[in-house]
Amino acid sequence: MKKITVIGAGFAGLTAVRELRKQDKDCEITLIAPRAELHYLPSLIWIPSGLRKREDIIVPLDNFFRRMKVKFHQASVTGLRDAGRTVETDNGEVSNDGLIIASGGRFIKKLPGIEHAITPCEGVDAAEKIRDRIAQMDGGTIAFGFAGNPKEPSAMRGGPMFEFLFGTDTLLKKQGRRDKFKLVFFSPAPKPGNRLGPKAVGKLLGEMKRRNIETHLGHKMKAFESNKVITEAVEFAADLIIFMPGMTGNKWFDNSELPRSEGGLIKANQHCKVEGMDNVYVAGDSGSFPGPDWMPKQAHMADLQAEAAAKNLLSELNGQTADAVFKVELVCIVDSNDRGIMISRNMHRNTMLPGTVLMHWAKRFFEKMYLRKYR
Ligand SMILES: Cc1cc2nc3c(=O)[nH]c(=O)nc-3n(C[C@H](O)[C@H](O)[C@H](O)COP(=O)(O)OP(=O)(O)OC[C@H]3O[C@@H](n4cnc5c(N)ncnc54)[C@H](O)[C@@H]3O)c2cc1C
Repeated sequence: MKKITVIGAGFAGLTAVRELRKQDKDCEITLIAPRAELHYLPSLIWIPSGLRKREDIIVPLDNFFRRMKVKFHQASVTGLRDAGRTVETDNGEVSNDGLIIASGGRFIKKLPGIEHAITPCEGVDAAEKIRDRIAQMDGGTIAFGFAGNPKEPSAMRGGPMFEFLFGTDTLLKKQGRRDKFKLVFFSPAPKPGNRLGPKAVGKLLGEMKRRNIETHLGHKMKAFESNKVITEAVEFAADLIIFMPGMTGNKWFDNSELPRSEGGLIKANQHCKVEGMDNVYVAGDSGSFPGPDWMPKQAHMADLQAEAAAKNLLSELNGQTADAVFKVELVCIVDSNDRGIMISRNMHRNTMLPGTVLMHWAKRFFEKMYLRKYR
C-alpha cells in the first residue's frame, strides 16, 4: 500500500487529502500538524466586530479524518531527509513513499520595533487582541499597513488588511464613536493592492478617501515604536498599530535539502512538483510557483494547487505521467463588515463589482458551504 504523508492541516493540506482519497480509496494517508483543526483564516476579519468568535473559525477535524481514513500525527515538522522520504518532527519520524508539503508561510518579523504591532493574520489570538484593544480605547489613532517580501512579490497578504481597515471604520460608526478615532493606512507600495488589478487600486484608495482614512504610501518602512510608525519619509503617531509583514518559508525548511526561491519558499514547477525531488510536491503558501506576478497567496489558489499536487503525486507513484496543472485565478470579496467588493482576475480578465450588501452575505454563505466539508 502506498504511504503518503501530508504536512499541514490548512486549506492546501486538507484539499490534498480529499483529492488523494477521491483518486485512491486504499492509499495510507498520514497528516502531520500541530493540531487536528482547520483555522478558517478568511473569517478572522470578523472577530474584532464580534461577528465571529473563536469557536466559529476553528473547526475540529476528528470527523473529517475518520471519514477520509487519515492517520493524524500530532506534531510540528522540524526537518526532512532521505530525499524527502523521512519527515522529522518534534514527536518522532514519519516515513513515506510520497509527500505533499502544505505547511503555509511565516511572516518576516525583522523590522525594528515589530513587537509593537499586531500581525492580525497570525491567527485567532491576534484578531482577538485587536478586538480587545479597540474595545478598551476611548479614541486615538489606529494605523493599518502591510508590506511584502521584496524577493518574493507574491508572498504578501494585502486583501485582509483592507478588510480589517474598512471593517474597523464600519464598527466604529456603528458604535457611534468614529469621530473620536483617526484611521491611517500605510504601505511602502505606492499602489497597494496592485496585484488585485489596476482598477482595484483606484477603487480601494477611493474607498479610503470616502471613509476619511489618511494614507501614507510609497515610503520604505523603517521602524515602529510603541506609539509611532516611522518610514523613510514620515513618522506619525499611532495608539494601535496593525501591520502585516511579507511572508517567507517555514523555519523547518532550513533543516532540509528542499530547493528554495530567493524569497525562501519551496521552488516548484507548474505541476507543483518540488524541483529535483522524486514524489515530493508542495501546495499553497509554502510554495513558489511559475506564473504571473499577480498570482495570489490565497486559500482558493492553495486549493487549486493542492488538487494538482495530489493528482500528480498519485500519477508519479503509479508510474504514469504527472501532468496536471493548476489554474491561476484570484477571487476575493473585500469585505467591510456590511458590504463587499468582489474582485476576480485570471489570465484573460480582471473584473470588479461595486460594494454591495449582497457580496457581504455571499462571503458569509461561502464560508458556511466551505466549512461543511470538514465538520
Ligand atoms: C485574515 C485573512 C483573510 C484571508 N482572506 C482570504 C480570502 O478571502 N480568500 C482567500 O482565498 N484567501 C484568504 N486568505 C489567505 C488564505 O487564508 C491563505 O492563503 C491560506 O490559508 C493558505 O493555505 P495553506 O494551506 O497554504 O496554509 P495555512 O492555511 O496557513 O495552513 C498551514 C497548516 O500547516 C500547519 N503547520 C505550520 N507549520 C507546521 C509545521 N512545522 N509542521 C506541521 N504543520 C505545520 C499549520 O498548523 C496549518 O495547519 C486570508 C488570510 C488571512 C490571514
